[in-house]
Amino acid sequence: MIAVLRLGHRIFRDKRVTTHVALVARAFGADKIFVSTEDKKLEKGIDEVTARFGGSFRIVTGVNWRRTLKEWNGTKVHLTMYGEHIDDVLHKIPNDNILIVVGAEKVPAEVYKLADYNISIGSQPHSEVAALAVFLDRLSKGKGLKKDFSGKLRILPGKKEKRVLEIISDEECIEILKRVSCEGNVIEHCKAVQRLAVKIAYLTEADVDLVSAGALLHDIGRSRTHGIDHGVEGAKIAKELKLPKPVVHIIERHIGAGISKQEAKELGLPLKDYVPRTIEEKIVAHADNLMIGRKKRRVEFIVEKMNREGHQTAANKILRLHRELSKKCGVDIDEIDV
Ligand code: SAM
Repeated sequence: MIAVLRLGHRIFRDKRVTTHVALVARAFGADKIFVSTEDKKLEKGIDEVTARFGGSFRIVTGVNWRRTLKEWNGTKVHLTMYGEHIDDVLHKIPNDNILIVVGAEKVPAEVYKLADYNISIGSQPHSEVAALAVFLDRLSKGKGLKKDFSGKLRILPGKKEKRVLEIISDEECIEILKRVSCEGNVIEHCKAVQRLAVKIAYLTEADVDLVSAGALLHDIGRSRTHGIDHGVEGAKIAKELKLPKPVVHIIERHIGAGISKQEAKELGLPLKDYVPRTIEEKIVAHADNLMIGRKKRRVEFIVEKMNREGHQTAANKILRLHRELSKKCGVDIDEIDV
């Protein structure tokens, strides 16, 4: 248990700063925050963040700070610019059962006495938000920032765009496919693609929940057409249903190993690049390439079939994608059983 004790919160003056102290505590790996002044609005705000973004962080306001400090069954650390430098004491601090005290206005002298350690994050005055962030990061050796919150809302790393995923359960995906009137055999195929895609995702750095939902929904466009435009149609349906953008992109870019803008022109599709870009988009597209109905085929089988049908360029792209993903998995995808 890592808990934070926030002293001297003044409801109007410190509203934002105390909110930030609580958000930093949660995001950097603490389990709980005690705030010495009662503030139900603050509790509600933090509880809402936890409900959306996950984890089991707890906030309790209106606690008696003296009693909380005295009765804490573990190590008590007070962060203050007047303390010992963090580099000199960090090795003595256990990384469990810690109560970390941060102030707002002047901190009572008693706190310095009740604390086991008074620690400074550099001896210049700055902020409780910064002090707490640095302390938690040093304490967890950077692991706090990698905590899995398993929230309904997931932020995916994006190089140049926001990628926010609202997790959709398997049941919700199947319900959506049925609602748009996808045929039973399409739904069974989607489930088979999901099984393979999720196995591949686990072997890479991909977001498994995104791959899972994207795989289940990738053929939603087959409720309107079984033509090569079912990716485009599927993306339209997904947008109408306000599904998360990363899922829309998986649906739109899942045909073969992707369709370039030039190929889209030749195929009579709306002029656009449909090449899978993210690891999640590539995994779903390729799991679909290898899954004929509910049966997984080896890549040579698919490639030979496409060559026979005169689709050499597409076949070569599929082979390249197979090799790229197999390398990321550390195993040839042909050897993955489903
Ligand atoms: N005059 C206050 C005091 O007695 O410490 C400082 C108020 S400061 C705005 C609010 C809080 O930020 C402090 O109580 C302390 O927890 C934290 N803080 C600010 N600078 C710090 C530093 N250099 N090292 C550790 N904590 C610091």
